[in-house]
Order: sequence, then C-alpha cells, then structure tokens
Amino acid sequence: MSQTAQRQIEIVEVGPRDGLQNEPTLLPTATKVAFIERAVAAGLKRIEVTSFVNPKKVPQMADAEDVLKALQRREGVYYVGLVLNRKGFDRAVAAGCNEIGMAVVASDTFNQRNQGATTDESIAAWLDIAKSAHVAGVRPQVTISAAFGCPFEGEVAAERVVEIATRVAEGRPYEIALADTIGVGVPSQVTDLLGRVREAVPGMRLRCHFHNTRNTGIANAYAAVAAGATALDASIGGIGGCPFAPAATGNIPTEDLLYMLERMGVSTGVDLDALIDTGRWLQDQLGRNVPGLLVKAGNFPRPRAAA
Ligand code: ZN
Repeated sequence: MSQTAQRQIEIVEVGPRDGLQNEPTLLPTATKVAFIERAVAAGLKRIEVTSFVNPKKVPQMADAEDVLKALQRREGVYYVGLVLNRKGFDRAVAAGCNEIGMAVVASDTFNQRNQGATTDESIAAWLDIAKSAHVAGVRPQVTISAAFGCPFEGEVAAERVVEIATRVAEGRPYEIALADTIGVGVPSQVTDLLGRVREAVPGMRLRCHFHNTRNTGIANAYAAVAAGATALDASIGGIGGCPFAPAATGNIPTEDLLYMLERMGVSTGVDLDALIDTGRWLQDQLGRNVPGLLVKAGNFPRPRAAA
C-alpha cells in the first residue's frame, strides 16, 4: 500500500437506496426498515436510506417519508437522504435526515436526463442547498456522478471532474464523492482522479462509489483505499441495477469489500458475519440470489460459532 493508504475506512451502506431503487416489485416499507436496521446493527454508521425524488420516476422510493418515520434512530448513526434539488432537500430535512447527499453529474447530457437541469444549474442548486443544510444543522455532502465515464457522452475528462470538485467545495461539504455510476472505471483511473481532486481541494474528505458492471469494482475500491479515500459506498449483497437492463449491475457488495479490507488490516468497525447474514436475508426478501460472493462462499476463517 502507498503512503497515502488509510488504515481505517468508513463504509456507507447504499443498498436501501441505490440497491433497491430499480427493484421492479415494490418492497413493503417494513422490509426496507428491517434492512436498514440490520445494517445499523452490523455496525454501519452511515446508511443512504432513501431518495427524495419524483415518485413517478422512481416508484420504489415513493415511501421515503414513511421509511424515515418508521426507523428506530440510533445515536451516532447518519441516516442519509439523496436529493437532486431544493424540493428534495426540503423533504429530506422535514423527514428528519441528519445527512443529505446531493448528486451533480459530470456530463450535461446525463445530468439533464437524471435531474432535468444542466450541470451548472445543479451546482448552483447544491451551493444553495449546502448553505441551508449548514443553517439547519444537517450534514451536507455531494457526489460527482459519472466521474469515470458517461453512458451518453462517453469519456469524461479528468479536468472536468476536478473543475466541478473545486466549485462544489465552495459549499463546504462534509466530503466529496466520486461516483463510477455506470461501472466503467479502472484502478489506474481511480488513482489518477483521486490524486488530481486531492490536489485541487486539499484536506477534503473523499468518498468513492463503484458499480461492479465490468468486474472492476473491488479493484477500484482497493485503488481508492491506496489513494487515500476516507469512505467507500457499497451495498449489502451487491444488489442494484435494473433487472430489465442486462448490462446494469449493482454496487460493490459491502460484505465482499469488508472481507478484503479486514484481511488487509484496514478497520471499519463493521461485523462481517452479520453482513453475510443480511445478504442471505435479502435473498429471501427479493426471492432470488444476490451477486455478492461472500454470501455464497462464507467468511474465512469460519465464524467462531461454526468452527
Ligand atoms: Zn450508484
């Protein structure tokens, strides 16, 4: 590992939002709440619990307020709501999120399709939201989506990502995340991009968000740890992606990521066996296998109880 490598990494569980948002059948609110509470019980301290977006566009997230209402809040846990605009931010704060994540897409075409605005308009919205969040005592952070490539425009220039990072940093986010939304990035790109962003916004916490669409997700996570990322997004079971689009796949599986980190001596404070259990529980809830490999292979060495 390089000198910038972290010995401690925070994992942000995004399964309840990024993982579930494309599920074709609407899951009961109680199941989502049970999922979130299992993640918290396993030791995860930041959970992206839902998104406050147009329910017509993302029906699975239509019960955002109900999920927040039903959750048993735990001290020291951040319940993150994803928002794309001011309206979503107001809903998230009213629902009681203590952290909000805003997304700005690196390419205009994708930003337009995802949130009906240009990237510039979304950056302006973020700066406005960040100011209100600081006033409201809600922790704001921002993700630069499609930072490693765009499904519509193709390659995204690193300079473009750096420029956006510099501009969103003016909102004093808790951290900036770089997201490989469509899973096209490779480790050397992660190293390069994190290095450039760190140089542009020194001292800023950097989080990464990877999808395993082309099987580079875990390798990218390794590169991010080596390059000094302070947090990584992951979803239990590796769920996510639209079942109707064969090429779309989920986030990196939380338990697979945790296995690698633990064996590397990077601490996370999360109970791996509890995550594997939850991955198996998710399979029952969804009625199908999840992509995560630890769910199949199990922990190593075996958990004490099974030894
Ligand atoms: Zn994602």
